[in-house]
Amino acid sequence: MSERRWQVFVVRCASCEKTLMTTPLIGAVEIKQFEDHVRSCARHDPLPESPTLGEVMRRVRVGVVDPA
Ligand SMILES: [Zn+2]
Repeated sequence: MSERRWQVFVVRCASCEKTLMTTPLIGAVEIKQFEDHVRSCARHDPLPESPTLGEVMRRVRVGVVDPA
């Protein structure tokens, strides 16, 4: 028996703490949006021209919302 629990990710900017997205799925489109925000936000820690996934994710914080 397995209880299906849907998780929702909450992604915040590590620099300004703003919630960027609440999503059940993090894919290429979402990561591009994080990149766009971080590029305009974290000027003290700028992203390289073509950041890797790790470089983008290092600048955001991903949490999980448990369904009530
Ligand atoms: Zn920010």
